[in-house]
Amino acid sequence: MLTNDQLAAWDREAFFHPSTHLAQHARGETMSRIMTGGEGIYVEDRDGNRLIDAFAGLYCVNVGYGRKQIADAIAEQAGKLAYYHAYVGHGTEASITLAHMIMERAPAHMSKVYFGLSGSDANETNVKLVWYYNNVRGMPEKRKIISRWRGYHGSGLITGSLTGLATFHNKFGLPLPQVVHTEAPYFYRRKDLGMSEAEFVAYCAAELEELIKREGPDTIAAFIGEPALGTGGLVPPPAGYWAAIQEVLGKYDILLIADEVVTGFGRLGSMFGSDHYGIKPDIITIAKGLTSAYAPLSGSIVSDKVWKVLEEGTDQFGPIGHGWTYSAHPICAAAGVANLQLIDEMGLVQNAGTVGAAFKQALIDRLGNHPHVGDIRGEGLLCAVEFVEDRDSRRYYDPARKVGAQVAAALLSEGVIARAMPEADVIGFAPPLCLTLPEAGIIADRMAKAVKTVLGE
Ligand code: PMP
Repeated sequence: MLTNDQLAAWDREAFFHPSTHLAQHARGETMSRIMTGGEGIYVEDRDGNRLIDAFAGLYCVNVGYGRKQIADAIAEQAGKLAYYHAYVGHGTEASITLAHMIMERAPAHMSKVYFGLSGSDANETNVKLVWYYNNVRGMPEKRKIISRWRGYHGSGLITGSLTGLATFHNKFGLPLPQVVHTEAPYFYRRKDLGMSEAEFVAYCAAELEELIKREGPDTIAAFIGEPALGTGGLVPPPAGYWAAIQEVLGKYDILLIADEVVTGFGRLGSMFGSDHYGIKPDIITIAKGLTSAYAPLSGSIVSDKVWKVLEEGTDQFGPIGHGWTYSAHPICAAAGVANLQLIDEMGLVQNAGTVGAAFKQALIDRLGNHPHVGDIRGEGLLCAVEFVEDRDSRRYYDPARKVGAQVAAALLSEGVIARAMPEADVIGFAPPLCLTLPEAGIIADRMAKAVKTVLGE
């Protein structure tokens, strides 16, 4: 058997890790944690640690680890037919069944699902579909996509551009010119505006309209947003935000893409974030929770309105020139079918709502009066604690102090994995949706301890 040291050496020599300080890692200054197993909310590593994964990997292992039902479905499909493509009308029992199950769960006005492998490629597909849509309608100039600062939509060329976080732009020469950004609905961080929440919502809508007019409505094709901001800080929208945004988009014939990569399939306590907030999207992006990451699979769900134009397009121009080799991969689709069945059987959507509310309350009970805890927020099992140097003025810590990262490290020593979100001192929690009330209490207790270790009583 390979030793941990041997694996760590090979890792440094051969493995180019995503989102990693490459030089430090190559010098062996950062940790190589080698994961070996998992069960429910727990993961195990090769050093024998058993940790609570309070971020479900990258908020994706929604049913929890070690689900035999999904593993068996994958094995069975691999044994029967590991691969066939989905081009020119081909499919498998698994991929067709999964498409049917997704459409049963999606909002009523949605029509069809196009399968991809990752959230990034699904959003890439979405941008192409939006461009195709306007070309078929004879509006080739209507191409720009509006995204929000702090939004996260992927790491590709156009999707990294849609992402509104500097880390994903700097040194890559992004964003591309087809993308423009508008205000994020991050009320807590905009105290400087001196507005009530309702005024802030009106301000976000006005900013959006201003941007549309400045760029020219005939050049704007779509608006993309996560129902609740994810990587940009885990921020549920202020009340009325989506209604106000949709009113503006409707005025200018602009499509709405709801990026539900994180919120789809139960995370907020509803099947989709669109249901949760009364959003009526033209396209929905899904990934992560679709298979609980047991196999890579994503989807672009298009509405009746978009589908009609796509059909018209192929009648005029022939088959749509867009496809991936692995689209609707049978093994991934089999994982998806078993995963969606399990979500229903275990009642995970409802569980996310009830345990999520209790978890947020447990954090408030323990940390609500802490002088350096500025905000505790969440919806379902998407929760965050934001730190400030001064609560009243909401003065932030110097980013160089890396307060968020320090709290995450202290929490890890308590046996809990949470995520220090980029570009803010925010600790994010997005545990598997099977979290129980006692487990929620344990995480909240350990979080309180970690905060006190780093920032005092
Ligand atoms: N959209 C959202 C909202 C996401 O959170 C992510 C990934 N965290 C993506 C898109 C990109 O997904 P992937 O990493 O699978 O490409």
